[in-house]
Amino acid sequence: MFLGGIQKNSFIDFPGKVSAVLFLSGCNFRCPYCHNPELVKGRSDCPAFLNESWVLEFLKKRKGFLDGVVISGGEPTIHNGLFTLCDKLKESGFPIKIDTNGSRPQVIQKLIKEGLVDYIAMDIKTDPFKYFSFTNAGFNPNSILKSIQIIMESSINYEFRTTCIKPLVNENVIQNISRLIDGSMLYALQHFRNDKVLQPEFFRFNADAGLNIQEMAVLESIAKPWVQSCIVR
Ligand code: SF4
Repeated sequence: MFLGGIQKNSFIDFPGKVSAVLFLSGCNFRCPYCHNPELVKGRSDCPAFLNESWVLEFLKKRKGFLDGVVISGGEPTIHNGLFTLCDKLKESGFPIKIDTNGSRPQVIQKLIKEGLVDYIAMDIKTDPFKYFSFTNAGFNPNSILKSIQIIMESSINYEFRTTCIKPLVNENVIQNISRLIDGSMLYALQHFRNDKVLQPEFFRFNADAGLNIQEMAVLESIAKPWVQSCIVR
């Protein structure tokens, strides 16, 4: 398990909770706009990978102030040690939120079945059948559909979220995604922030990749009728 970083407290990452955020290193996708390039490439955000025992001890000491732990990345579900980490956090009494790209539905299913996760935030980056530009050749887009189904059929809290960036996202794409998540609890449309990104060269040819407030409002109006709640953030 490569613990690439920790945010010691956050008021926004786990809805309704003060949480710590753990960043697991490594990812099976290469989204051009990714804000965690060091983690994606498997390097640590900190001077060295964090020691798991140290992290667990730190969290235990902060219990009372912290009332949840977010496991983010990179992509947490690629790590075999994820179940053990969740087990240990649960033993310490922490509710767990997992941020995922949805590529490994079998892992999501097991986490839910074993009661190891309380909230899932799953990215839907574009129309699932257009993922090929940032995934490896063997990636099966049906994984994304399966993860959506598993999450929506579960009894845990969840959100789907899309970072809105051209040309991956447009009105048709949001229409298609909205159909896929018809009836879901929460859909968050996220503004793209053009700071540190995984593939700066992508933006040299797409200088206007981000959507403005009006364009985001149009996407929101498309998604809103399909889901229980739609937000722009
Ligand atoms: S945005 Fe998420 S899924 Fe995409 S490369 Fe970064 S960590 Fe991986």
